Amino acid sequence: MRKPPSHDLQAPQQLPVTLAPCTDELLSSWVARHAVFYGVPPLAMLRHCLPETPSLRATDLSLNDNQILRLAHILCVDEATIRRTTFTDIARSSRCLIATDAIQSCSTCCPAKTEPRAILRSQLLGWRITCALCGDLLQSPSGVSCASTFGHYSATALIGERLLHDEASRKARTWVSPARIAQLLLMRRVKNPTFGNYEPWRYRVLGALIPDLDDVVDRQSLPMSSCPILPLHLRPALLAAIAMVERSGPEMLEMLCGQMRGENKVRFSSAINEIMRGTSRSTASSQLQLI
Ligand SMILES: [Zn+2]
Repeated sequence: MRKPPSHDLQAPQQLPVTLAPCTDELLSSWVARHAVFYGVPPLAMLRHCLPETPSLRATDLSLNDNQILRLAHILCVDEATIRRTTFTDIARSSRCLIATDAIQSCSTCCPAKTEPRAILRSQLLGWRITCALCGDLLQSPSGVSCASTFGHYSATALIGERLLHDEASRKARTWVSPARIAQLLLMRRVKNPTFGNYEPWRYRVLGALIPDLDDVVDRQSLPMSSCPILPLHLRPALLAAIAMVERSGPEMLEMLCGQMRGENKVRFSSAINEIMRGTSRSTASSQLQLI
């Protein structure tokens, strides 16, 4: 594709032909479909629109107002449509739960007739077990549903999903960030294993709340706490545990801290202190507003 001349930066040209975005389609997916239509690589297509952008992923995560305006003009839609295709409005604390690729799908809502196949925003949301559009249970790429392993936690897991959704969409604030709790629950209870066949590296804080978890996980099943996105069949356990902590209050965190050992106990304890400092600051702030 012709590289846009420098004056295009001020007056970008609309694409002669544009494709309509699918409902909830991710910006990079929409750009990729335009790239196929125009016969260029997806990044070349994106840089035709936004010359300074580093990657498709960066564009999905965040766009500034000028970039939104420019894309809206080039792709012949309004600014709200562009904004809806990205995670620009997602709370920063929830970004650790946005996957880099599609990790799930809804058999009802995922469009099948596009080429390449459209990727929806909800396919990257690591806190969802139900489709944000229709409410059906999501499926993993291999067709596994979250109902298979921890289905008995489903009612509580839905509360956890709602808490994470509300935080991500900035609809509500509770005493604690549910995404932060997700990270704490995936910490190891012991940092360095020192026992023979006992494998404490497997045993996360989460297992203290969901005892059957340790029998189900294998080494590959659980991610690092910095990226707390569980495979779909294990995710109800994490969501349910988040709901339990949120409902029980700070005492639950203290109890979990008692399950830890050594360096990780110190880290967990310091994280609790940080959370409680944030909670008392926001309480003081709301009390000031009441006065
Ligand atoms: Zn759906």
